Amino acid sequence: MKTAVDIRNLHYTYPDGKIALHGVSFSIREGERIGLIGPNGSGKSTLLLHLNGILPDPLHAPPAVSIMERPLDKTSVGAIRRDVGLLFQDPDDQLFCPTVYEDVAFGPKQFGMQTAETRAMIQRALEQTDLLGFEDRSPHHLSGGEKRRVCLGGVLACEPKILALDEPTSNLDPRGKRKLKEILRSLQATQIIATHDLELVVELCSRTIVLDQGRIIADGDTIELLGNEALMLEHGLETPHILRHRHPH
Ligand code: ADP
Ligand code: MG
Repeated sequence: MKTAVDIRNLHYTYPDGKIALHGVSFSIREGERIGLIGPNGSGKSTLLLHLNGILPDPLHAPPAVSIMERPLDKTSVGAIRRDVGLLFQDPDDQLFCPTVYEDVAFGPKQFGMQTAETRAMIQRALEQTDLLGFEDRSPHHLSGGEKRRVCLGGVLACEPKILALDEPTSNLDPRGKRKLKEILRSLQATQIIATHDLELVVELCSRTIVLDQGRIIADGDTIELLGNEALMLEHGLETPHILRHRHPH
């Protein structure tokens, strides 16, 4: 089984001087589903943006990130963008077509896929994200949760090997969250999920990485880490209800 993501000593400083990542290292095996948690500003989004070379800009040597055992550099970034589907934290950063269909179809078309198989992929993504009937609507006139589904549809339509999801359940109502969890559970792709939704992490991710101030604080078994109230509180998090000590009836 391949190593899907390998990150070695990744540092990143924004152009304004803000140090966002202080030497982050970890790897993810193919097929793993990982929760990436930490308080606001801990570097979760910055880290995900490094998985397909959106950051750093321009790509510098030597590469700190490898995807499917291939170092991410100027020559590999095109192929790696097909391997890693990134769902942005803010849907408005991801939607720019006049219709839902065109937004969902954008990725596969950009990668030059125009075949019947492509149309089937787009159709499948629309079905998975419950967007049948929305094809001709303008993404900009949808609710926050609906916009998120369009973004996810666009990512799934490319059938990436690795999904990097930035707060995928934010703005979703309870039914939307359940639906999203079902989708993620059904996918074979390796997944890294940055989220404040710790119940999602407990339900879907056997492993969790805790980030705080650009550093990895803990990396291990989800139930063990999220059940550690002292660790959670120290890093601006809390043990989810489902893991709190259950009182006998
Ligand atoms: P998280 O997703 O965990 O909330 P981010 O990765 O968005 O954290 O941010 C990490 C740090 O980098 C924060 O201190 C944030 O203020 C800073 N940061 C994020 N984006 C930028 C940017 N474009 N320019 C400068 N600083 C940024
Ligand atoms: Mg973020």
